[in-house]
Amino acid sequence: MSLLQISDPTITNENLKKFVVGIDLGTTNSLIASYDLNLRIYQENSSKLIPSVVGIQKDDNILVGNNACLQSDSDTTIIRSIKRIMGLSYEDINKLDHQENFPVVRAQNDLPCIAVNDKEYSAIDISSKILSHLKQLAESMENKTLDGAVITVPAYFNDIQRQATKNAAKLSGINVLRLLNEPTAAALAYGLESNETGSFVIYDFGGGTFDVSVLNLDKGIFKVLSTDGNTRLGGDDIDNAISIWLSNNYSFMKKYSYSEIKEYAKSIKESIANEESISIKVNENPVTLSQDQFQDIIAPILNETFEIVKNAITASGLSPSEIKNIILVGGSTRINCIKNLLEKKFSCSVLNNIDPDIVVAHGAAIQASLLSGNNKDNILLLDVLPLSLGIETYGGLAEKVILRNTPIPIKLRKTFTTFKDGQSKLLINVIQGERELVDDCNSLGSFILSDIPSMVAGGPRIDVDFQIDADGILSVSATETTTGNTSRIEVKPSYGLSESDITQMINDSNESAEIDMNLRRLNESIVEGKRVVYALEQALNNDGKDLLSNEEYQSIIDKLDILKSSISGDNSDLIEHGIREVEKQSEFYVERRMNSSIKSLIAGKGIDDIL
Ligand code: ADP
Ligand code: MG
Repeated sequence: MSLLQISDPTITNENLKKFVVGIDLGTTNSLIASYDLNLRIYQENSSKLIPSVVGIQKDDNILVGNNACLQSDSDTTIIRSIKRIMGLSYEDINKLDHQENFPVVRAQNDLPCIAVNDKEYSAIDISSKILSHLKQLAESMENKTLDGAVITVPAYFNDIQRQATKNAAKLSGINVLRLLNEPTAAALAYGLESNETGSFVIYDFGGGTFDVSVLNLDKGIFKVLSTDGNTRLGGDDIDNAISIWLSNNYSFMKKYSYSEIKEYAKSIKESIANEESISIKVNENPVTLSQDQFQDIIAPILNETFEIVKNAITASGLSPSEIKNIILVGGSTRINCIKNLLEKKFSCSVLNNIDPDIVVAHGAAIQASLLSGNNKDNILLLDVLPLSLGIETYGGLAEKVILRNTPIPIKLRKTFTTFKDGQSKLLINVIQGERELVDDCNSLGSFILSDIPSMVAGGPRIDVDFQIDADGILSVSATETTTGNTSRIEVKPSYGLSESDITQMINDSNESAEIDMNLRRLNESIVEGKRVVYALEQALNNDGKDLLSNEEYQSIIDKLDILKSSISGDNSDLIEHGIREVEKQSEFYVERRMNSSIKSLIAGKGIDDIL
């Protein structure tokens, strides 16, 4: 029964409404906005985009956003792009192909941190400074305390990265209503405004990352069909490409530091738009770049993004002709030729009528308003699982429980059993990946279900439940059904699985499908062979000598030996043949065992008792 809400008609609706916001916590820039019939973006120094930059001064004073960017003295340590290392381990950061602009050290707890003035700051600490800054900005402009926020994260953020974002919000005193995938937020912004139905591609090209998602919108229901991307591809790469061109074509550029050249490159990029060519003066020296040259320089980068779009469409199961629109998100989509190239390549119209800088924050603000009950229209948001999840079964085989591209949130159950008689424990190894063998997948964590009551192999029923909540966080539990014993874990996926890893894993699985199937067959035959050997040896130990003549006994042992030696090889045909031979040779023995157990059942009983 729901409670009736009684309101005083003299109090305006305004006072009953919760103050909730959407936050686009970007790698380069962040935004904070609220939505109540209209969108309101909270600005800093009349700028909607708030640089995701933190400056730590000598006296440990913290500056965030534009104020941090303005500091150029050597006494202030400037930290940019902290989002890149959110949720990564120290080892992961060392493995990154690209060094970050801040020194990362190993803290006492083994976690990575940034050491400044003898203090250690984790990525969560730095991120929370940005969030606190955004919160203060909105609160001071509304003169209200914030009740909650929807924070956007890249679709590829794994559980740890999502948890890290939540923890940063907690540290800054923000109540997280929900984490929302960035492309889903963008779709929400467009879906409500234009009331469209169909399949769409979200092309999000930011400062340092590229994300693409294929979405389906129908009657207010958003479903993400597939996602793909590259965490190391963005406007920054375009700035680098132009910088290299400048250095190669203008020898006087040698006088400038790389970061100075890059600033010139960036300003050329951001002002070339529809111009035939652009000329700037670098300390009295003229520099000219034509639109054609510009497009040639950036072509390899744009082609990489188009390739990723193609892959995402393939993964969604749709054909390119089924895509109604491509929606542009992120500052780098202001590059004019992107729209035309996409239209030509994918033969569909490209939507860019919402400012690509604010579209994610816009969608997050709408979602926050919906979740807080401020808005009556109900929209269900579905995101999608990037890689299949499952558990390891006997023989190192991967058993998938939830398939990749399944919409989340979701709860699914599969029932498993034991391999050995009297087995009292079961190790549940949770894995992520598309391959058939556990060794080729990613282990997300494992736990043990113990106190399984003693039963014959295959007797116990163990229900394994996978649950992924709306934030994309996975928990797995295992329950033995007769006793109700349960064990569970909140799965912490292996640190820093980037989407290039994910793409690699999917490509590997496509390329290795046949090899995998053969390996799976081999593993299954080995498991089955071992099961047959185990069961027969147990039986022979029990009553073999009583029920069989020496000759019969030996004939079964001979076949068993052949089977055992085939199991140690890698020929599944041979193993399957060995199993059939053993079964044939032991048929009469199995029959005698059955007769003997019936005899023992009826022993001492009169015929009347039996019929
Ligand atoms: P993020 O999502 O990574 O925080 P943004 O979506 O804010 O990034 O995009 C920032 C990028 O957009 C920067 O590389 C910036 O140079 C680029 N950008 C901004 N305006 C333009 C423009 N007019 N033309 C080309 N690139 C632009
Ligand atoms: Mg962005």
